[in-house]
Amino acid sequence: MNKINVIPLPYAYEALEPVISKQIMELHHDKHYVAYVNGANAALERPEKNRESIRDFSFNYNGAKMHEVFFANMRPARENNRPEGKVLEAINKNFSSFENFQKEFSQAAVTVEGSGWAVLWQNEEGELFVGQLEKHNLLALNGAKPILVLDVWEHAYYLDYLNDRKKYVEEWWQIVNWDDVGKRLN
Ligand code: MN
Repeated sequence: MNKINVIPLPYAYEALEPVISKQIMELHHDKHYVAYVNGANAALERPEKNRESIRDFSFNYNGAKMHEVFFANMRPARENNRPEGKVLEAINKNFSSFENFQKEFSQAAVTVEGSGWAVLWQNEEGELFVGQLEKHNLLALNGAKPILVLDVWEHAYYLDYLNDRKKYVEEWWQIVNWDDVGKRLN
């Protein structure tokens, strides 16, 4: 397997303010995400493939890949930031309405125990469903792929929102990049 590369942010570190501060984005991208990429590459280089090295690889590789989706899933804040076109159609079909989807996804994000993610998956049949990941596992669920993800590890929001994860999740909807979600949708 080939090494993986750090992907630069597709916007400036301060571009998501005031929803997510420049300070968080610098730490999140340049320290946490880069550490997952480096960790995955280091695990790949280890000659012995034992339980520790495989777990190490899985954790870091999944961490790197989840952050790639997360960073690309965001853009500068917009008022009335809602999906349109085929993304809205798919959401309406699977969740009855955007409001229902938003409620379910937010609930998933707020209630992740410890460190993890809320994820909108699309399965091979094209259906959408909401789930949670603990830590970074697992990236693939019987062929389903993540098309919208929200990082609710404390490193993603604590400097801006302290322990108010609910507020972070509420504010985050303003910066969802629905065009990017649309590109991931089959
Ligand atoms: Mn993170």
